[in-house]
Amino acid sequence: MEKHMSVCPYCGTGCKFNLLVENEKVVGVEPLNGITNEGRLCLKGLYGYDFVNDTKILTPRLLHPMYRRSRDADFERISWDEAIKIAATKFSEIKSKYGPDAIMTTGSSRGCGNETNFVMQKFARAVIGTNNVDNCARVCHAPSVAGLAQTLGNGAMSNSIQEIGETDCLLIFGYNVADSHPVIARRVIEAKEKGAKVIVCDPRKIETARLADLYLPLKNGSNMALVNAFANVLITENLYDKSYVANHTEGFEEYKAIVSKYTPEYVADITGLDPDDIREAMRIYAAAPSATILWGMGVTQWTMGVDVVKGLSGLALLTGNLGRPHVGVGPVRGQNNVQGSCDLGVLPNVFPGYQPVTDAAIRAKFAKRWGVASLPDKVGAMVTDVPHLVEHGKLKGYYIMGEDPAQTDPDLTAVRKSLAGMEFVIVQDIFMTKTAMLADLVLPATSWGEHEGVFTAADRTFQRFYQAVPPKGECKHDWEIIAEIATAMGYPMHYQNTQEIWDELRELAPKFYGATYEKMEGLGYVQWPCYEVEDAHGAKYLYHGNKFERPSGKGLLYACEWHPPMDQTDSDFPMILCTVREVGHYSCRSMTGNCSALQTLADEPGFVTMNPKDAKRLGIKDRELVHVSSRRGKIITRAQITERTNEGAVYMTYQWWIGACNELTGENFDPTSKTPEYKYSAVKVEPI
Ligand code: SF4
Repeated sequence: MEKHMSVCPYCGTGCKFNLLVENEKVVGVEPLNGITNEGRLCLKGLYGYDFVNDTKILTPRLLHPMYRRSRDADFERISWDEAIKIAATKFSEIKSKYGPDAIMTTGSSRGCGNETNFVMQKFARAVIGTNNVDNCARVCHAPSVAGLAQTLGNGAMSNSIQEIGETDCLLIFGYNVADSHPVIARRVIEAKEKGAKVIVCDPRKIETARLADLYLPLKNGSNMALVNAFANVLITENLYDKSYVANHTEGFEEYKAIVSKYTPEYVADITGLDPDDIREAMRIYAAAPSATILWGMGVTQWTMGVDVVKGLSGLALLTGNLGRPHVGVGPVRGQNNVQGSCDLGVLPNVFPGYQPVTDAAIRAKFAKRWGVASLPDKVGAMVTDVPHLVEHGKLKGYYIMGEDPAQTDPDLTAVRKSLAGMEFVIVQDIFMTKTAMLADLVLPATSWGEHEGVFTAADRTFQRFYQAVPPKGECKHDWEIIAEIATAMGYPMHYQNTQEIWDELRELAPKFYGATYEKMEGLGYVQWPCYEVEDAHGAKYLYHGNKFERPSGKGLLYACEWHPPMDQTDSDFPMILCTVREVGHYSCRSMTGNCSALQTLADEPGFVTMNPKDAKRLGIKDRELVHVSSRRGKIITRAQITERTNEGAVYMTYQWWIGACNELTGENFDPTSKTPEYKYSAVKVEPI
């Protein structure tokens, strides 16, 4: 049996293991002592490997290019030569007729390495001539990137996954650790076993709430009010670190003025919480020698997502819980390389290494290296802008790599309409996803397990993964396909291997320069920033010496007024729908739905979970079929009745083709990050 080292393709924990290979098939997994997992794996890591083998459980692997000569024709198999020619010709035509900004591109955070994402953003900028390049962070942690960049100067986790088990206090806010990152949940238990205090803020009684010292079941949509009340308690009870605030922060007086209104009594109605519990939470947090805040999409997927992230970083600044071990702020990223996609500039406003596209000197540096006269200076479109831009005739071409917006993005009717409104859509993927079914040209890429490169875990850790089995059928590596289209469009792009791409990145992004392939060989790792090759592992934690990457070098204390969610409930749609995770499945389910063990574990379309009191009032029994409808659509699914769901709200996962809850979610976005308010859609649930 062969063994090939890899990094898990699912969540952002970055667990390392060996893929066990027999007769060119992956047959098992052997945990390894990686820096983030230290020998642990969850069920997705242990049993989520066989989609690579083309199990055909949900859908077969894509094995050759396919093209529809018209929108009402069937897909037909074509050669790679014809596929590349069609792609290059169509994009060239759109570019010359409508301009480069009429084309949108995406990177992929699901099993696509950093090198692939680097090549995609280079294609958008140097070949097409647009900054219209984005990734799925837009619909998940973009508010964390934007919020932390504004208050601390860096949009990533400040400390390391390893350190979570060593902290004295964990404030877990809107983050279902057990289902989202099970191996990180083990670190929470470790910390608890060593005596750490755990505070959980979540409307739903999630698994982690069961081990909390204090559980705050706040009302859906009240995050900002609670964070402001936390700050109010820290200030009014003199629990904050005055010396730290004076020396390392700015904006205190304005911040204090805004939060002064948000007493625990003032927010009691908004949050539904006992004021004494709000006070107790901050007394625990402030008293701990080291304290860490972790959050997930319960914080970010709101119209106030960026504001709440800024508010949470304010709590860490007020108490001096930054710039040292076992403290900090932790937006724990969902998809396995979503941190990497952002780091690599698959964002409309920055080049790799978070270098702004609006900076002329930065643009000149990239243009010179890439051999083009100039690069676009306008911040590009975001993926959530697509439906609106198509409706207004501004987007005509779409190159979607390893994403499935027709399953995962909000308001699927609007998404389908936007894909139909494009003149030409390429989907490059490993499976015939719902989005691929709506494309003009489908390009088969190699899967995780069939290619190599570097992934970035949620805590900025670069790790290498290796090819284990040969590519299926006629599949090519994503970066090879992009390079062939670029070359056919008149921009010769020829890379021999991923290391060549990685070294070009290092040369252009000083933050990553010290992260050489050699240092990341095997179980090696580097955490960015790592400016020097001599720096063995880079930065375990950020803001050393309490120097923040902002013009003043100080952290910004920020608060703002709370406002209610946008999609208001009424007599027609009286309940709140919140989209959530399930441990056994991942993203659009194209990977986990093709894994035999995972599919056995969860083989039925997702449920709508509801509180027994709501179910009784509506006459709905456990496992009964129900309709769930919103102002945008209607779906059928089964009810699951549980005390863990709060009254007035229902919860659904978004992976399933039947009961696809994004038919119901809406187009209300955070004004800065344009992240959808997935956590709050007004719905009606009815027995059938
Ligand atoms: Fe994979 Fe995440 Fe599970 Fe680790 S915790 S094995 S990275 S899904």
